[in-house]
Amino acid sequence: MKIARRKARIVKIGNIRIGGNYPVAIQSMAKTKTADIESTLGQIKDLEAAGCEIVRLAIKDNADAIALKKIKRRAQLPLVADIHFNWRLALAAIDNGADKIRLNPGNIYKPAEVKEIISALKSAGIPLRIGVNSGSLKALNSHRLSMPDRLVAAGLSYVRMVEKLKFREIVISLKASNAQDTIAAYEKMSRLCEYPFHLGVTATGLPLEGAIKSAIAIGALLLRGIGDTIRVSLTDNPKEEVMAGKFILEALGLRRFGPEIISCPTCGRCEVDLVKIVKELGAKFSTMNYGLSTRPPKVAVMGCVVNGPGEAREADIGLAFGRNEALLFKNGKPIKKVSYSRCIDAVLREMERI
Ligand code: SF4
Repeated sequence: MKIARRKARIVKIGNIRIGGNYPVAIQSMAKTKTADIESTLGQIKDLEAAGCEIVRLAIKDNADAIALKKIKRRAQLPLVADIHFNWRLALAAIDNGADKIRLNPGNIYKPAEVKEIISALKSAGIPLRIGVNSGSLKALNSHRLSMPDRLVAAGLSYVRMVEKLKFREIVISLKASNAQDTIAAYEKMSRLCEYPFHLGVTATGLPLEGAIKSAIAIGALLLRGIGDTIRVSLTDNPKEEVMAGKFILEALGLRRFGPEIISCPTCGRCEVDLVKIVKELGAKFSTMNYGLSTRPPKVAVMGCVVNGPGEAREADIGLAFGRNEALLFKNGKPIKKVSYSRCIDAVLREMERI
């Protein structure tokens, strides 16, 4: 099934473009103190190696804003400055080379302050994310409305304020802490404006729970063609956020970052340590980069002859295990038997010959 994407306005963040037909970009947020330049650069490098394309940094004081300049000189990824409460920090972050500013309408909203920020954004030629979060909606945003309507109302009134200043380099996020409200808010907003969306669920919780909640909300929206960049928020190392984001996009067929593994869950019929094989292959595949133009291969690893040959035939390369050996398939045809101990090497060798 091909997903028909909503044609959002194209916005440039450093060397990445989102919106239009551009691929849905993956982003994450460093969890270091930004002023600790070496730790922050180390985390940015790790995130980039994991496949992150845009990284956000918390700017909570002047030291963080000043650190941006040195980080920017050595980092490859576009840097988004996350600003709350203090509008002057947005000006400092722009001065120090931020590639995008995120403002929270719940805590920076005075027209005179927003006007100053927009004027600096225009001079620097960088975009703004209007990042609405359910946890920081302004008190005057009526409690009589449902949560999705409150998120949309807060986002839309901010958008209109910024548009009056003749600024349209806007990205919008409307994050609730549950999937249903998040989906409803973005869906409603998609009918009201043309700006690209940064998708995410806020404060999701522990990794497995958070990844599932995010996959449901982000996945449901992307299936409807809504969304231009995603951030999976997890109470965990940010590399896991990037991995979860990549898996969501791959599961929807929107992007492929590396070879796909199709493996069975195993059961009493399996006579080898299939989990070990799949984990080893997964670790090797995670370091392979196929770029945007090449289709990475599909590799099936199946525990027995019940579904094994069938799945192995459907993949580019397949292993269907018996006792201590597997039948190796390539392009749907069995080519030879390989021993359990040599099966990973055999798969990697055949991948090189595709
Ligand atoms: Fe069990 Fe075989 Fe199915 Fe794997 S393929 S789950 S080992 S029956």
